Amino acid sequence: MIREYAIIGGGIGGCSIAALLNAKGHDVVLLEKEPSLGGCASTFLHHGNHYNAGATTISGYHEGGIVRRVFQTVGVTPNVIPSNPAITIIQGDKTCIRYRELERFIGEIETFYPHAKHREFWTLVHTLGIAFYEMQGHYYSNKSALMKIRSLLSLYPIVKRFWRYLFGNARDFITRFYGTLSPQYLDFLDAQILIVAQATSDKVNFFTAALALGYTFNETHYPLGGMGAVCTSLTSKIPDVRTRCPVMSIVKENDIYTLTTPQETIQCKNLIMGTSHYESSQWFSDPTIKKYYQKYEKRNNHQSAFVLYMTLKTLTPYHHHYQLIAETIIPHTLSKSLFVSFSDPSDTLIAPAGFYRITASIHTDTRFWTLLSKTQYQDQKKELQNLLQQWICDKLGVQNEEIVECFAATPKTFGRYINRTQLGGNALTLSNFLPRLPSNDTPIKGLYQIGDTAYAAQGWPGVIMGAFNCMRMIDGKH
Ligand SMILES: Cc1cc2nc3c(=O)[nH]c(=O)nc-3n(C[C@H](O)[C@H](O)[C@H](O)COP(=O)(O)OP(=O)(O)OC[C@H]3O[C@@H](n4cnc5c(N)ncnc54)[C@H](O)[C@@H]3O)c2cc1C
Repeated sequence: MIREYAIIGGGIGGCSIAALLNAKGHDVVLLEKEPSLGGCASTFLHHGNHYNAGATTISGYHEGGIVRRVFQTVGVTPNVIPSNPAITIIQGDKTCIRYRELERFIGEIETFYPHAKHREFWTLVHTLGIAFYEMQGHYYSNKSALMKIRSLLSLYPIVKRFWRYLFGNARDFITRFYGTLSPQYLDFLDAQILIVAQATSDKVNFFTAALALGYTFNETHYPLGGMGAVCTSLTSKIPDVRTRCPVMSIVKENDIYTLTTPQETIQCKNLIMGTSHYESSQWFSDPTIKKYYQKYEKRNNHQSAFVLYMTLKTLTPYHHHYQLIAETIIPHTLSKSLFVSFSDPSDTLIAPAGFYRITASIHTDTRFWTLLSKTQYQDQKKELQNLLQQWICDKLGVQNEEIVECFAATPKTFGRYINRTQLGGNALTLSNFLPRLPSNDTPIKGLYQIGDTAYAAQGWPGVIMGAFNCMRMIDGKH
């Protein structure tokens, strides 16, 4: 039997497109290498304890948000609860809470870093977010010169409305806006821009920076049972989801794709790659397809993550998410900030009462890890693990005796499990903006690409925007 659509990779990208196609009545098979779905947003077991592998925060599930839209379209409701506050930021001896309500947050930031321009600045950030998410009808394809021109025309209303924030870097814009700006406040802004946009204010335009700074003005959500459970629920109506099913090779012949897995070979008319763009070419033998993927290799920023996992036994109350900001870049990383997520005390699917699971991540470069000897690698991993553990203890009041378990993952660890060392996807930097990004359709018949290395890039909202865009290409509505 030749399947209509095979989707390789059960990250949020593969899960979303598979669920959307299935909801439209298409024949779909979803193939995931690992025992559970989720990829960067999976939940795994270690010594019987559950941990989120990377992603911990669901943004875009507020009323009208794109993540909510995918669940509504598919007709399932994920088991999530609001996170309030969205993030608690600790920088030096200051603690600043990112309240969702604009007025409350302006009050907070004025105490944190007094400045007369805060109201105007944060109101602009807030307004740009609302205005952008209201805009519909745009799409993106670069499969041919004509499609590129047509999709850029579809984006014209956005360019027309926001042009003054699109050109030039955000740091210059912010510096001009405020007049005077302390380096600490710039670090505060950059830490938040980095976790969403995957780049700091000197590399992105102000529009991207504003969307990154403003995401906490919408409700964010915590996944009960872990991020992986949300991916499982999204795909729950698909009859054919196969885990522990790594695709080892793909042959294209007469417009049919033949996929080899350890269990069987699967043939399909349409293939959707939910794997990273930078890894996908390895499974193909077709030289045209290999060339297509290799064309984008220069977009690989080698950015990745070092992740610390901890179990704590404590009765101390914690918020869902903290961001710790240091004065200097942490050794073996690219960042001054660590994002620390705690399980919710009510989430006994993840941790029994009286225990917390922690996933804490910091940006790094794949090459800081992949070019080392085995001993250097192990020493460096231990050094960074200890440093981050100590930082968490110092800033969040964790006692060493409360730590039941602590271990870490490097870009190499992610490579071993989910076949990718570059994490976080493509950053929408000034040198990597839309016309240069790979789209969800390709010039190759029946081949599509989904996920954070294709349009619209990183994070669940970006990846899901790509899934809707992909559906639009498949439906021919452009
Ligand atoms: C540390 C970290 C923290 C993050 N935090 C957040 C957050 O809080 N909120 C947020 O919205 N985003 C966050 N992100 C970003 C977000 O997690 C990713 O952008 C998104 O999950 C990527 O999804 P994806 O489907 O593109 O790819 P992936 O999640 O990488 O999925 C690809 C899948 O393909 C599978 N696969 C690979 N090779 C094969 C093969 N040969 N056969 C079958 N299957 C294969 C892999 O196992 C994997 O499951 C974070 C990312 C990281 C790394």
